[in-house]
Amino acid sequence: MEGVAFRCQPNCGRCCDQPGGIVYLSPDDAERLSEHAGLDVEAWLERDTRKTFDGRYVLKSREEDGVCIHLNEQKQCSIYEVRPQQCKAFPWWGENLATPAAWGTTKTACPGIDAEDAIVVDGQTIRLHVFADRTSTKGFRTWPVEKRRLNR
Ligand code: SF4
Repeated sequence: MEGVAFRCQPNCGRCCDQPGGIVYLSPDDAERLSEHAGLDVEAWLERDTRKTFDGRYVLKSREEDGVCIHLNEQKQCSIYEVRPQQCKAFPWWGENLATPAAWGTTKTACPGIDAEDAIVVDGQTIRLHVFADRTSTKGFRTWPVEKRRLNR
């Protein structure tokens, strides 16, 4: 509850620059990102996503190196303002917070944790990020069907 000191560092991009990394998408992500792209959701899903073996939509990766299609040459996210909630939730992923060892690994990988210019992120905010990450990981498999289910 005391929180953790963190500030994402400019031009870092380490958490995105991961060949084979998977970004799960929530239905809200699909609506927000497709609107940002100026496409309807189905067209955006076709253009910018792929499916996992179990059928969940995830962001596409670049064919040449397996890194997210939205990471630019300056190691910046080209859709930062509307980025998926799982990206926004990093480093507050359940798997990163599950054990001291996992958190230690995350701290080593992310220079934003305990950075000199960090500000304290409170426990409640961290919990909301953990929940958002969990929702994204659950994902969705068929756009119209899932949308109807969510609106019930
Ligand atoms: S690894 Fe940490 S500091 Fe670097 S871009 Fe990701 S969240 Fe920001």
